[in-house]
Amino acid sequence: MNRRRRIYEGKAKILYEGPEPGTLVQHFKDDATAFNAKKHEVIEGKGVLNNRISEYLFTRLGDIGVPTHFIKRLNMREQLIREVDIIPIEVVVRNIAAGSISKRLGLEDGTALPRSIIEFYYKADELNDPMVSEEHITAFAWATPQEIDEMMALALRINDFMTGLFYGIGIRLVDFKIEFGRLYENDLMRVVLADEISPDSCRLWDIETENKLDKDRFRQDLGGLVEAYQEVAKRLGILNESRPASTDGPRLVSST
Ligand code: UDP
Repeated sequence: MNRRRRIYEGKAKILYEGPEPGTLVQHFKDDATAFNAKKHEVIEGKGVLNNRISEYLFTRLGDIGVPTHFIKRLNMREQLIREVDIIPIEVVVRNIAAGSISKRLGLEDGTALPRSIIEFYYKADELNDPMVSEEHITAFAWATPQEIDEMMALALRINDFMTGLFYGIGIRLVDFKIEFGRLYENDLMRVVLADEISPDSCRLWDIETENKLDKDRFRQDLGGLVEAYQEVAKRLGILNESRPASTDGPRLVSST
């Protein structure tokens, strides 16, 4: 398997050349990193769970008309995706204050924000992914004004959909990070959702207990990361390997 050409290796994923031109294989590793890789651990089982959870969310988002790079899951750790030209911007959507916004603006974690807030970060590890404004993005030509508009519109749709999806299974979607890519089809270029959406890139809090079901368990040394990701997968109805993820609905958690 590993004789395939490796196109790119990141902190939690590897991209291999795909079986056909214009496709890639996205492989989910068990590595967990935080604080720009200053903290690193291998957490057995994480990659498998993220592959399933991301497949599920990309499929559901595709169902409602959000264009994505996802084609199909290949096996426990890999999915087939369309090759895109990644826009070097991390788009963060926040509903509740946590993490860097709490620190930056002196908010208490858990404070509901007056409305959903979109932030942009420039993808540059050597600079610690600095926060940037639309002015920086257009001045340095990282994306065009039209691409920014498309990313923002998609980010809000994704937020609305995922907020409802997670709410239905007793989970609050606090914030998340997404990435977009340019997909070239004939002479056309489209902005599509790329990378992954998983508990590595979202903050997910259990509504009843306020338990963290995301990568903060690793960042804050809380332990039980795999169990938390399993809980998310279980509530989404995708834990059983024999059932195809795309046909299972989320399991309703009683709201008392
Ligand atoms: N995030 C991510 N990758 C990054 C930075 C942030 O997936 O490189 C996610 C993070 O998991 C959280 C959201 O984006 O769900 C907002 O993160 P924040 O800016 O609060 O940064 P952090 O506190 O994680 O450093």
